[in-house]
Amino acid sequence: MIQNIWAVGRNYADHAKELGNEVPTSPLVFLKAGSCATLAAKEIHLPEWGKDIHHEMELALQFDENLQIDEACIALDLTERTKQAELKAKGSPWTLAKSFKEACPLSSFFPVADLEDLKNLELIFKVNGQVKQQGNTNQMIFTLEKLIDFVRQHFPVMPGDLLLTGTPAGVGPLKSGDTVEAEIVGKITHKWSVK
Ligand code: ZN
Repeated sequence: MIQNIWAVGRNYADHAKELGNEVPTSPLVFLKAGSCATLAAKEIHLPEWGKDIHHEMELALQFDENLQIDEACIALDLTERTKQAELKAKGSPWTLAKSFKEACPLSSFFPVADLEDLKNLELIFKVNGQVKQQGNTNQMIFTLEKLIDFVRQHFPVMPGDLLLTGTPAGVGPLKSGDTVEAEIVGKITHKWSVK
C-alpha cells in the first residue's frame, strides 16, 4: 500500500524556467496523498471541477521495507495549474491543485538493482501521438541519492511510499478524449485514455 507520495518540485532547470520559478537551492518537497495513486490503470478520470489539469511525467521510486529503493515506475504528477497559480500567489498550500482524486496515475513497476541504472534515462510523454515532454534523468538538479537522503532525513517515510523526482519541461493540459503515452526508454511504457 502507498501511504505517502513525496514529490519534488523544480528538479529540472528547464521546467522551473517554463513556469517562471527560480531554481531551488535545496529540494522543494510537497506531499500528494498516497490514495491519489492509481496503479497501472488504463484510464485517467479528470475531476469535473478541474479546468486546467496538466501532465507532469516523472520517474517515481518506491521505498522497500528497509527504506531502500527496490522498484521504480512512471508517475504522472497531475496538477490543476490555474488553481496552483492562485494558491501560490496567496502563499497558500497546493493541496487542492496536487492531491485531488486520481491525481497520481502510475505505470507498472520495474525492478531497480542499482540507482546508477536510473541516471541516464530518457523520459518521453506524448499526447495524441505528439511528443510534449522529453528529458533525461541526467538533467536533474538534485541527484537521486540527495533526494532520497533528504526525504528520509526530514519525513516519516514508510515502506511502499513513493518519491517523485520532478518533471522535465513541456508540461501542458490534458482534456477528455486524449490518449497519452509515457515511456522511460528501455524500461517501461504505459498508455492511458483520458476521461
Ligand atoms: Zn511534479
